[in-house]
Amino acid sequence: MITKILPEEKIQKAHKYIEKGNSFVIVSHVSPDGDSLGSSLALYHFLLNYGKDNVSVIVPNEFPSFYNWMPGRKEIIIYEKYTEFADQLIQDADVIFCLDFNEPKRMDKMAPAVLASEGRKVMIDHHLNPADFCRVVISHPEMSSTSEMIFRFISRMAYVELIDKKIAECIYTGMMTDTGSFTYNSNHPEVYSIVGELIKRGIDKDKIYRNVNHVYSECRLRLMGFVLYEKMKVYPEQHAALITLTEEELARFDYQVGDTEGFVNLPLSIDGVHFTVFLREDKEYIKVSLRSVGSFPSNQFAGEYFNGGGHLNASGGEFYGSLQEAIAVFEKGLKEFKPNNSEEMVNRD
Ligand code: 5GP
Ligand code: MN
Repeated sequence: MITKILPEEKIQKAHKYIEKGNSFVIVSHVSPDGDSLGSSLALYHFLLNYGKDNVSVIVPNEFPSFYNWMPGRKEIIIYEKYTEFADQLIQDADVIFCLDFNEPKRMDKMAPAVLASEGRKVMIDHHLNPADFCRVVISHPEMSSTSEMIFRFISRMAYVELIDKKIAECIYTGMMTDTGSFTYNSNHPEVYSIVGELIKRGIDKDKIYRNVNHVYSECRLRLMGFVLYEKMKVYPEQHAALITLTEEELARFDYQVGDTEGFVNLPLSIDGVHFTVFLREDKEYIKVSLRSVGSFPSNQFAGEYFNGGGHLNASGGEFYGSLQEAIAVFEKGLKEFKPNNSEEMVNRD
C-alpha cells in the first residue's frame, strides 16, 4: 500500500490541466541527470499513453551518453542546439511541467522563455524552497527523487494502469540515480513498494544499473585513477576532502560529458570523511559539487561560499574566478563555516 502524500487539490488541478490541454512541454534542469531525464521521459510516455499527441521534452543542454538507452530519449530537444524551435514550443504550450528543479535559474538559458510563456506551469520537485513561478507547486523534499513523485502523481490521478514498462524504466532510473543506487535518501519503505510495482511491469533493474554505471570509456576510468592518486586532498581534522580538475587535465583524458559523474562521492568511502567537494574547471566558471553524510548541510555550505544550493547531502554551485581562488574559498569555508541547526562536523565521527 502506498500512502497518499501529494496533496489532493494539487493533483486535481494538474489533472484538469492535462485533461483540457492540447500542447504540453516538459522541462527540467541544466546538466540533465538520471532523475531529470527519468521523470521527464516518464511523464512524456504517460501523456502519450493518456492520448495526448503534442508533447515535447526540452532540456537546457546535452546529457551524458550513458542515458542514450532510455526510452524516448531521441525525442528530447536540446535547447542550446534548437533554441528557436524550442522557444516556439514553449511559447505555444498550454501546459508546462517543470520537473526536478525549484527555481528558474536552474533552467539556465531556457529560463526567460519558460517564464514568459502563458502556458500553465506545474512544478513537481523534491528540492527545498520552491520559488514562486508555477501555478501548481508539488514540492516534497523528503522524496527520493522526482521520478518517485511522478509514480505517485500518475497513481493518484488513477491511471496506474497506464504505467507500462517504458515508464517504469524511466522512473526506476531516476530513483536509482538520485539515491546513489539506494545508498542514500532511500530509507522510506514505500520507495521499495514502488520499486516492486516497477519490477512487476517487467523492468530489468540489474540491466538498468549496468546501462548507467558500466558503460564508461577506458579514459574515464584512468581519469578516476588520476583524480584519486594525484588530485585528492584530505583534511582529516575537518573530516573533509577536496578533489579538483583543470580543463587541461580533463582534455588529457579525452573528457566527455558525464565522465566526472560520481567522482565527488569517492572520498566519502574514506573512514572519517563526511564532507567532500569537487571543483571542476569549466569554460565559464568552476563547477562545484558537494556531498556529505549525516547532518552536515552541504547545501548551506554551497549557498554561503559557492552561489548554489540543493539537498542537505548533495548540492552544487558555481564559482567565478580561478581554480586556485576556489580552493582558497573552500579552505576558508572549512575553517569558518558554522551551520545553522547542525552539530559541527569536527565533532562528528
Ligand atoms: P551535482 O553535484 O550532481 O551537479 O548536483 C547535485 C545536486 O545539487 C543537484 O541535484 C541539485 O539539486 C543541486 N545543484 C547543483 N548545482 C546547483 C546550483 O548551481 N544551484 C543550486 N541551487 N543547486 C544546485
Ligand atoms: Mn532529482
